[in-house]
Parts: sequence; structure tokens; C-alpha cells
Amino acid sequence: MYKAILFDLDNTLLDYTSSELDAMRRAIDHHRLPELSGFEWETFRAVFAPINWTYWSERVERQIHISQVLQYSFRDTLIQMGFDPSLSDPLASTYWKLFCSTCHVMEGAQNVLVSLHGHYPLGIISNGIGEAQRARLKTGGMDHYFDHLFISDEVGLWKPDRAIFDSAVRAFGVDHSEVLFVGDSLQDDYRGAASSGIDFCYYNSEGLTAGEAYTPKFAIQSLSELALLLNRSSF
Ligand SMILES: [Mg+2]
Repeated sequence: MYKAILFDLDNTLLDYTSSELDAMRRAIDHHRLPELSGFEWETFRAVFAPINWTYWSERVERQIHISQVLQYSFRDTLIQMGFDPSLSDPLASTYWKLFCSTCHVMEGAQNVLVSLHGHYPLGIISNGIGEAQRARLKTGGMDHYFDHLFISDEVGLWKPDRAIFDSAVRAFGVDHSEVLFVGDSLQDDYRGAASSGIDFCYYNSEGLTAGEAYTPKFAIQSLSELALLLNRSSF
């Protein structure tokens, strides 16, 4: 019998992909980039994505703050596209404000939280930025469901490091065997939960084929299956 259910946040409960796209589009429009001769949204997206991913991946090691990750990403993208990079700081600032106040919820997330809340203590373990994750949950009216939030930049630990899972288990005052962790990433969520000895429920919304190296306790394609699985199971 599980005594706490913990979730990954991005692309498990909140639709990060839609929020990022939405905030980006609005920031670009706000600063009137589409009026520049030769500016194309698709090109901007294609150039921005790998630059941003590189700065994001290296931010901990290089001690780059999230605001700098964004500023540098916009700057390099504008330069690579042949535009004046002087707009990069205001663009980064506008994007971040919009992103933090934008909340797209994954299908079925509200329902599953309503059905579990009150029956299990609930928590979040997210490799994100506390300011954004907390604001987005609040915007989506979902913050009150959770007893504890473990957000990487606040606790200084990143999935799949088992230490962030161990911290969460300690906070709930339960055994590792009494926790179920739900997430969409085999790399960060499965590996971290597995190394911490926590059962993992793989939220595989796109029906991807997992390698044989991955043996999640459960796999679901929609969040509604999670509520059924917890109500019906007799473990
Ligand atoms: Mg995720």
C-alpha cells in the first residue's frame, strides 16, 4: 500500500512544451520581431532550440543563472540570424514573465489530482526553477494539492540523483517501498526512482518503446489510468 504519491512536473502534470511555445510566441510578438525584414518564426525556433538546450544543460557546471541562460540564448540566436542582439535582454525578461504566468495542464492531470488528493499525501520532484514551477502551479490552481515540492534549483539536487528522491521520502516520513513516483522521463525519473528504491509509474503518453533496460513497475498512457490503478490495486 502506497503512503505517498510523487510526480514529476513538466510534461507529466504541466504541459511544458505548450507553455514554452506560447510564451515564446507572445514575447516575440510583443517586441515586434516579426516586423523585421527576413524574420521567420520557424527559423527562430530552429536556431533558438539547440542554443538554449546547450546553455540550459551547462548552467549548473558553468554557474549560469536562468536569466543569463535566456539572455545568452536570445543573443546568440539573433546574432546567428543576422539581427541586432540589443533586444535580447528585454526579450529574455518578457519571455520569463510570460512563461511563469502561463499554465497549460496535461490532459487528465486535474482529475487525477482531485481523485488522489485527501487519500494520499502528494508531492513534486522537478528538475526546474522554483520561481517558475511554483508560479505555474498557482496559475493552474494546482498548488494546493501538494504537501511538498522538491525543485532542483531550490534544493541543489537534480534528477536522476537519488539524493533528491531520498530527501522527498524523508520529508513524507515513509519508507521508500511506500512511495510511487510518476514521470514521463526514463532518463531522469525512472533512473532516479530506481536507484532510490522507489516504485516508478512511467507516463508514456506517446506510447514510446522503452528499452529492455527499463523495467518500470507500471506504465500508463493516460493519467486517468493512474487513479484506476491505485484504486483497484491491493498492494
Ligand atoms: Mg518531465
